[in-house]
Amino acid sequence: MDHQSDQNAVEQQFELIDQTLGERGFALHFPRELEKQFEEETGPARERWYVRMGLLSLGMSDLLIALDYFSIPDAFGLALVLRLGLMTALTAGAVWITMRHPPAFVREGMQVILATVMALVVYALVASSTNPLRENYHLGILFVMMMTVMVLRLRWRYAVLAVITTVTVQIMTLASLHEASAQSKGASAFLSLAFAGFSLMALYSLEKMERQGWLRSVRDRLCAKVFEEMSIIDPLTGLGNRRALEQWVNTRRKANANRPVSVVMVDVDYFKAYNDTFGHLAGDDCLRRVSGLLVSEARKTGDRVCRFGGEEFLVFLIDIDLQTAITVAERMRREIAAKRIPHKTPTGSNCVTASFGIATGRLGDDFDLNALIEEADSALYKAKQRGRNCVEPPLLGLAEPLCAAG
Ligand code: GH3
Ligand code: MG
Ligand code: MG
Repeated sequence: MDHQSDQNAVEQQFELIDQTLGERGFALHFPRELEKQFEEETGPARERWYVRMGLLSLGMSDLLIALDYFSIPDAFGLALVLRLGLMTALTAGAVWITMRHPPAFVREGMQVILATVMALVVYALVASSTNPLRENYHLGILFVMMMTVMVLRLRWRYAVLAVITTVTVQIMTLASLHEASAQSKGASAFLSLAFAGFSLMALYSLEKMERQGWLRSVRDRLCAKVFEEMSIIDPLTGLGNRRALEQWVNTRRKANANRPVSVVMVDVDYFKAYNDTFGHLAGDDCLRRVSGLLVSEARKTGDRVCRFGGEEFLVFLIDIDLQTAITVAERMRREIAAKRIPHKTPTGSNCVTASFGIATGRLGDDFDLNALIEEADSALYKAKQRGRNCVEPPLLGLAEPLCAAG
């Protein structure tokens, strides 16, 4: 991707984030791309949380078994099978799957199933006991609901599903209590519905806050990335600047230790005159064209070009010795002159040319980029003195410059 399409992509991202942040609707779901990123970034923490809570609820089964033993001893056998057998197997299975990073719908869906089965276990125990203490057992389903909505904090849509199934099972459980009066069952159902409604409202605002906070953090990170890029990318040519080159060289310093490197300093000839004749905007265009030519030549050897100053560029060649660097620079020089970009120089030349100064060194811990640049700069000075539109040191047996006399 080039600099311009990079910029367009970033602008589109900002637009999408701002639009989503400004959304006043009820829906919590983000547009597809953002939702995918949201899940990628927040999913792993959820997995860890679900795993921890799964392990905790495995431990809690033992406590509940003790409660069953004292409250509904006539259904204790069934409690053992359902709680220690079925629930343990299902919870352990869900923990195992969650640890293997399943898709979000599997991770959340499993919790809905677990909550529903847990509620059904309570229903089954109440239905198979005749002990008067069974009357309060339906409260256990409220506990399941609370665990699912407020502790696990399932994603909103799944929490709604879990609440619908658990409240339904609770109402079924209440209905099966023949000994309780209709008023008491009605009051319990009402309380349970109110509890479900308030928990879902709380979860909704929590998830809304989490999503808005996450969106702001994405926006902040994007801003930081843009500022970082702005500080190392030259907006006119899209090339990296000197800082970008320093960063790049530092990453290569160790990786390419002891390998030869060459630095080519390029300076457009009589560029002030170009601006004076054609104007600054035409000058900008000219710089873009020259940078494009340098990049396309450098691309052939996989090297790095940066904008060093006004009309100066720096080409950094790894694994290239002096002789090869001279050949590369000579090719660049010819390429620029061959484009015959019209110019009126004090010497009468009628097209844009550039001069090149080269220095070579070796990468490694004691590699001094600035010293190499200074050497290349001195070479460039010599090239200017020799009459411009040439490479210093020169290629042996070089033909006359293409365009020196216009
Ligand atoms: P020489 O052949 O000795 O290099 O002469 P020169 O005229 O190219 O060098 P000089 O340093 O005198 O002038 C450089 C000019 O480059 C002056 C400045 O206005 C111009 N320049 C620097 N940056 C930009 C830019 O971003 N856009 C435009 N249009 N001109 C620029
Ligand atoms: Mg200059
Ligand atoms: Mg110049």
